[in-house]
Amino acid sequence: MYNQGDVIIIGAGVVGGAIAYYLTEKGKSVIILEQDEVASGASGGNNGQISIIDREPGLELDWAKESMKLFKGYEEKGEFETELEITGGISLFYNEKEIEIGKKVIKKYNKIGYNCEMLIGNQIKRQEPNIDTDIVKGAAYCKEEGKLNPFSTTIGFIDQAIKKGAKLYKKTKVLDFKLDDNKIKEVITDKGSFYGDTVVVATGGWTRELMSKLDLDYKIFYGRGSLMVTNPVEQCVKGPIVPGCFTIGTLYEGDWNLLGLTQHKNGTLTIGQDTRRVNNYNKGVSYDGIVGLGKLFAKHFPNLKNIDIVRVWSAITPHVEDSLPIFGYSKKYPNMFLVAGLKGAFTIAPAAGKMAADMIIGDSYDSRVEEYTPVRFE
Ligand SMILES: Cc1cc2nc3c(=O)[nH]c(=O)nc-3n(C[C@H](O)[C@H](O)[C@H](O)COP(=O)(O)OP(=O)(O)OC[C@H]3O[C@@H](n4cnc5c(N)ncnc54)[C@H](O)[C@@H]3O)c2cc1C
Repeated sequence: MYNQGDVIIIGAGVVGGAIAYYLTEKGKSVIILEQDEVASGASGGNNGQISIIDREPGLELDWAKESMKLFKGYEEKGEFETELEITGGISLFYNEKEIEIGKKVIKKYNKIGYNCEMLIGNQIKRQEPNIDTDIVKGAAYCKEEGKLNPFSTTIGFIDQAIKKGAKLYKKTKVLDFKLDDNKIKEVITDKGSFYGDTVVVATGGWTRELMSKLDLDYKIFYGRGSLMVTNPVEQCVKGPIVPGCFTIGTLYEGDWNLLGLTQHKNGTLTIGQDTRRVNNYNKGVSYDGIVGLGKLFAKHFPNLKNIDIVRVWSAITPHVEDSLPIFGYSKKYPNMFLVAGLKGAFTIAPAAGKMAADMIIGDSYDSRVEEYTPVRFE
């Protein structure tokens, strides 16, 4: 039946896509419900950076390592292109105090085998010759960082799942659920009802609102992040660039306007990131935010200040109160599996999606994931 499957996945972002990919690979029949289009959420509005040293050593970092191998496998098997390039990446520091904290972070990653170092002054130009080192005083370099194309990656996962039998329903918004003895027996959408043995919630920044229908309050908040994109230009930025406060953990709550950017394979640069804590899903961009980003870019890259900006946009992205992902089965509704609030999900989605599929199928899995259980909010 068109509306019945082993697993219903809500959300066609990179997370829902990776889970669908691995479930269909293991022979499960999957239905994907998406309120808008594939990659219409955060997965289609981001910088495509592969980030390593903003994650704590542990399962998330192991997911990152495994994911890089899995990404290569998709390309080698000719399944889909991710445009993954491991170029090395830098986090920017503007004063001595930040550099000192950054050095401690680097030591931590060196100890566990990552190739990181602090670049000071002109050394930064080894990686990024166009950056103004009068502004940027130091940069934490990590050789294992890089970039990919978030659209082709997300669409690639979903297309492969469809090839293996998944059914995708776009413009189909989940509105509510019907229960039978605390199990979800019906997923109610604006296009009718769907039925599955397991329901996977991969709804990113929308998760808290959707889960309120089940009287659950997972502390997942969301922000509106704005980026802009330039015309294609010759290679001028090598790897991903992120604000150093991501790396040393001094990013304050609230709104921020900080420089992070990527140059993509087609030559375009995406420049961000203006982030506002909001309480609605309006994806409008803030004029001040965009002007602020333009000024930041011109200040850091004076040689490139005449590049044309062709488009600006924003995307809704989640963050969890305790900064850990939410991953695993609900206790209250035992056939509901949540995966939300993965930080920088493109670095870890393949391995996290594979583990979610293993858990749903009943295969063995790494028990460290239990730290991320949704039950902590139930
Ligand atoms: C400006 C910005 C820059 C970023 N830069 C990076 C970066 O460089 N690298 C990186 O790894 N990460 C980056 N991120 C974060 C990254 O985009 C997210 O971690 C990732 O996209 C999350 O994927 P997801 O599948 O969980 O969520 P989403 O992509 O948001 O997918 C959730 C989907 O669920 C759908 N949905 C929600 N509610 C319902 C419903 N009721 N019914 C049906 N469908 C529903 C939504 O429409 C959406 O398509 C950035 C984010 C932003 C905003």
